[in-house]
This record gives sequence, C-alpha cells and structure tokens, in this order.
Amino acid sequence: MDIRAAAAEPSNAPLAGGIGSRTIMLLAVALVGAVVAALMAAYGPSAFAVKLMKFTASRWDAVISPYAGVYLGGIGIVLVVEVFVLGYRQSSIYRLLHPTQSTWMDVFCFAIDFLKVAGVFMTIFSLGLADVALKAIGRVTPQGVLVLENPILQTVVIFVVIDFLKYWMHYFQHIWGFWWEAHKFHHAATEFNVITTTRGHPLDSAMRIVFLAVPTALLGGTGDQFLFLSLLLSMHSGLTHSMINWDFGWVGRWVLMSPVTHRIHHSDMPEHFEKNMGSVFIIWDRLFGTYYDGQTVNPTVNVSDNFYNHKGLLYDLLACPWAVLRTIGRLPRRLLARQALPPAE
Ligand SMILES: [Zn+2]
Ligand SMILES: [Zn+2]
Repeated sequence: MDIRAAAAEPSNAPLAGGIGSRTIMLLAVALVGAVVAALMAAYGPSAFAVKLMKFTASRWDAVISPYAGVYLGGIGIVLVVEVFVLGYRQSSIYRLLHPTQSTWMDVFCFAIDFLKVAGVFMTIFSLGLADVALKAIGRVTPQGVLVLENPILQTVVIFVVIDFLKYWMHYFQHIWGFWWEAHKFHHAATEFNVITTTRGHPLDSAMRIVFLAVPTALLGGTGDQFLFLSLLLSMHSGLTHSMINWDFGWVGRWVLMSPVTHRIHHSDMPEHFEKNMGSVFIIWDRLFGTYYDGQTVNPTVNVSDNFYNHKGLLYDLLACPWAVLRTIGRLPRRLLARQALPPAE
C-alpha cells in the first residue's frame, strides 16, 4: 500500500482506550493549571515570572549554540543528498512541503527537540532526583571518571559506551509496557522524512534523559570533543529516517545501522518486531540476538494498533501519556494474576 494512502486511511484500533478527546483535553488543562498554580504558590508570582524569563532566555541560548548550527547543518546535508538520490517527489523536502498529520507531528517534535526543553520534563518525571544526581556528579567529578591521555581515544570510547547504553535503553523502550506506550509515539510515524528522527513524545524524551544523563555525566568529555561527532550523528540519524534504500553493504551488516536496517525496525510486520535496536552501531544487535538477518526493504512504516495521526496534534500529545498511565494502572492486576498462576512443572 502507498505510504500516503496508509496515513490517510482511518485506523480501526481503539483510540487510547476509547476515551473522548474532550475529556483528555480537560484533564490536560487541569494538569497544566495545577502545575502552574503550584509553582506560583511555591515561588510567589514575581519570582515565578523571573524564573520563566530566565528559562526563555536559556532556550534562546540553546537555539544560537554551535551545537544547534551543527545539528541543522547535518540534517541540511541529508535533505540535499536525498533530493539527488530519490528525486524531489520522493524526498523529505517534498513531504515537509506537503505534510500529512504524521509529518506535522514530526515538525512539532523537531521544534521541541531544537529548543531542548526535554530537560524540564526530566525534572518533573524524576521528581527532581536527576538534577540532584547531576549536580552531585558535577561537584564530585567535574571531568568525569573516564579521563584518557589521548582525547581522540577518550571521545571514541565514550561514544561507544553511550551507544551501548542507548541499545539497552531502546531495548527497554520496547520491552517495558509503560515505556513502549511512550516510545510507540515515535513508531506511530506513517511516513519517513529526515526529521522523523526527532519524533518523540516529551515523556519518552524525559525517560531517555533520565536513563542516559547520569552515566553520560559520569563518563565526562568536553563539548568540543562532541561537536564533530554531533555533525556525524545528526547526519546518520537523519539518514536512518529517510527513504533512501542504502544498506551500506557489509558495513551495514556488521558495523553501522543503515537506512534499510532502521526502516525494518519501523516495520509493522511481526517478524520485524524488536529487531535492529541499535542506534549507530549494529554490532550490539549482532551480539544480543536482535539483528534481523533478512533482505527486506520495506516501502512503508507503521506500528500495529496505531491510534495516532487521526484526531489532531493535541489529542495525540495527550493520548500518549494517557496510554502510559493506563499501562501503569494495569500493572498491579497483571502482577497479581501472574502470582496466582500455578508453579511451572
Ligand atoms: Zn524503537
Ligand atoms: Zn526511528
């Protein structure tokens, strides 16, 4: 089926457990109102306003940072390469100029990602514990625990270790029910363009930061060391979410995640579920048995029971945490049911 037809076709899946969009919006407004009221009560209205202005200024600093320029540069290079390889009508630029709702969500997530506001959600989600841990690490070991004589070797080692951690993080994103509901938002994309790489619900981003921030701070490394890597990383993650049918040959089978292997990870065919979980290196999938050893080049991407992309961006943004909460709510009953099972023979 054509990928655009799939996006336009109404889903038969239940919408976030059948809850109405009006109810979910009222819940969200009440939640945001409660958080703002609590913050104003805690700080006082004027101090709260000062904090809000400081936060806005810090987001502007993020936008004009060298990292942001490098990141945009990497994505821009892939956008141009795509036009030459795929032709304009199949390119991300065309898709971004003719957006489906799936693409609109990609654009929204790209903006959120660019402003780096996920740290706020990290603070909320970890109840402030992640910030306390990061400050403590900064005091005890400001340089990190991994300090090697050769800065290039140090950068490479840190990069490989973080990629290893990302593999396991991605594994848990799929295996743990509540995290899958948050990560499913990324897989709900019904078409790929290079900025689909940033499509992630803020709740999923917060969980990712909580998982990665402490080990990353412990490892250390300077900003300059990562600037060049950031360019390569943004190009690679953009490529793996493009429709270019590159499999990178033996490099793609043994070393790097290719566009074709990551697209298999986004397939809605059961044999592709929980396959190709790596971020940059494919070796982790080889080592831990999640590599999909097939010749598939799937022309479409989707996820089973996709209730997204039909009721508007706000609904989708609110349906995701609702689905996460429902999964967490069902957990005690599932655990009790498991305990009630007779012991295995
Ligand atoms: Zn995934
Ligand atoms: Zn992806």
